[in-house]
Amino acid sequence: MKTPDRDLGMQRNITRRDFINGVALTAGAALLPCSLVAAEQCVLQPVEAEKFSPYYPPALTGLRGSHPGASDAAHCLRDDTFFKTFLTSQSTGEIYDLIVVGGGISGLSAAHFYRKRAGANASILILDNHDDFGGHAKRNEFRVNQAFRLGFGGTFSIESPAPYSREARGLIEELGIDVASYPKYHHGNLYRSLGLHSKIFFDKETFGVDRLVTGPSSFAGGEKDYADSEQEKAWKQMLAQAPIAPQAKQDFMRLLTDNRDYFPGLSSTEKKASLARISYASFLRDVVQVHDDVVKLFQAVPQPLFGLGIDAVAAQDAWGLDLPGFAGLKLDAAPGKGMNRDAIPNEEAEKYFFHFPDGNASIARLLVRQLIPAAVPGNSATDVVMARADYAKLDSAASPVKIRLNSTAVRVKHLGDAASATEVEVAYARHGQVYTARARNCVLACWHVVIPYICEELPQKQREALASAQKVPLLYTNVALRNWKAFQKLNASAVYAPGCYHTRVALDIPVSIGGYECARQPEEAIVVHMMKTPCQPGRPSREQHTLGRIELYNTTFEEMERNIRDQLARTLGAGGFDPARDIAAITVNRWPHGYAYEYNSLFDKFWREGGETPCEVARQTFGRIAIANADAGAYAYTDEAINQAWRAVGELKS
Ligand SMILES: Cc1cc2nc3c(=O)[nH]c(=O)nc-3n(C[C@H](O)[C@H](O)[C@H](O)COP(=O)(O)OP(=O)(O)OC[C@H]3O[C@@H](n4cnc5c(N)ncnc54)[C@H](O)[C@@H]3O)c2cc1C
Repeated sequence: MKTPDRDLGMQRNITRRDFINGVALTAGAALLPCSLVAAEQCVLQPVEAEKFSPYYPPALTGLRGSHPGASDAAHCLRDDTFFKTFLTSQSTGEIYDLIVVGGGISGLSAAHFYRKRAGANASILILDNHDDFGGHAKRNEFRVNQAFRLGFGGTFSIESPAPYSREARGLIEELGIDVASYPKYHHGNLYRSLGLHSKIFFDKETFGVDRLVTGPSSFAGGEKDYADSEQEKAWKQMLAQAPIAPQAKQDFMRLLTDNRDYFPGLSSTEKKASLARISYASFLRDVVQVHDDVVKLFQAVPQPLFGLGIDAVAAQDAWGLDLPGFAGLKLDAAPGKGMNRDAIPNEEAEKYFFHFPDGNASIARLLVRQLIPAAVPGNSATDVVMARADYAKLDSAASPVKIRLNSTAVRVKHLGDAASATEVEVAYARHGQVYTARARNCVLACWHVVIPYICEELPQKQREALASAQKVPLLYTNVALRNWKAFQKLNASAVYAPGCYHTRVALDIPVSIGGYECARQPEEAIVVHMMKTPCQPGRPSREQHTLGRIELYNTTFEEMERNIRDQLARTLGAGGFDPARDIAAITVNRWPHGYAYEYNSLFDKFWREGGETPCEVARQTFGRIAIANADAGAYAYTDEAINQAWRAVGELKS
């Protein structure tokens, strides 16, 4: 029987109730001209709403990330209705040295690199369709009682499967981030010292009964719980409690300990080639022949990396990620053809890690501080964490660099023939109007799937390559709790929930930095992070992402909230958790266009066989228009967003 909404606290007046579709309707907003706030979509009219003091997106709760309204103009372009509605545009009369489309880390980095090349007085306009800058690197703020809490709304940390390039590392250093100093700020042993460990939640819909059991951190994430030597003990403990078939328990231990060579007679290279063509789910089911409960248990393990379950991740990648079953194959360490870069272990890359409490939003904010010092006060890479951005300063006549939010580029074209034109014109939709501005150069640092719709003059082959760049849909949900006593009672710090709406739940990573103090006592307010990737197991990866994106756009915040409350109640109820009482605020960061699509040996033949990749075709500079974004490297990481910005700027005409 479903828990009634009243018991889940659906009627409670948490902060999300103060917002309609993610736009503030606070007392302060009442000071805005009434035309600013329309009842349905809260579409802001053509005045500079960002200049009014209530405008502060990081503190908004409810549906954030790609918030309602952010993609409307782009979707109208896709559906070919945009220019049927907007027949005229208005010139702003502005002429810039550079216009950047996309205010994510790639777009901000492009502006940064361009200024290094052209000088600090270079005039730059950055357009972004969201109400906040940073792209995926967004920050969520909460006030719970007297406590100030931060959460990451997307891009979570400086990390990458491959070492940062000279340019990416150089930019991080220039921003003043001392990556090696991270342990100084991270309370690395906090949860363990309180007796908390990672857990697995078996849900009754998938496993017949709701049960929270011990689960080694390799499943749940969070702090590394057990020394390698103790892992087997932890697995045994998990199996003793897990509601799975007895045969599945035996098979699970066999999977961990068996030294059988499932491909006798094949060389290491041939074995890897075979593993590149079958999913890990098939490997488990058909090769190792484990019980189906074991497959279900592993199903969601690779979701945080790929936005896909084991049905769509190659067994070769599972081997690289150290998932069990491969010991007897005696594979040599060299990466096999078609291996995903995430799955190739690299010690140097693993050591390069830094997590700000708001994730890489701090990187975006540091970049904005360099570009427009008045907008983000302060002067160090640590004080940025508590700095309150002044959104009124982002688009100011006084600054050579301007960031114009709520502005979707809808048409980018050379004025004249691309080979000889001296200017590019960019039309953008903002608060129900279309404006144009001109620039000597343009960097498209936006999502590649959007580019064919806004830049029709690109060659057909390039437009097709751009259009093939899928995006991986995700939800990054932050739930502000009044305390985490239930987690302590249950000795839980992070929970892997393979059958649930959100497949991961974790207490915030405890980091205190730049005057920000994280929660250290279970009685204190905390942010709990939850992750969902809307997969459709059994289908090809791109199809799963398309269907997942549709699902996210079609799910209301209310449905998501109900799922969140229900899941937390079922997972933590035995520890005394009461969703109606304990939840103070919910922010769902919805990313229907999330990670850059990374090539997959199961579905992208060219990735196994070599040759030109679509992203190489897609990112060709055309006249005065260069193309950046993490999509340009088909690699969903901040270092790639920076690398591609650096390359794109380097390719611009002077
Ligand atoms: C939930 C999530 C978690 C992640 N975690 C990590 C992590 O921990 N570490 C890591 O390295 N990477 C992570 N990533 C990957 C992340 O994508 C990159 O690190 C990086 O932030 C990408 O920057 P970008 O500028 O290339 O793209 P984006 O951040 O996507 O920025 C592009 C911007 O262009 C805008 N745009 C699109 N079309 C238009 C238009 N027509 N007009 C105007 N603007 C437009 C978009 O709305 C967006 O704001 C994560 C991504 C997601 C979604």
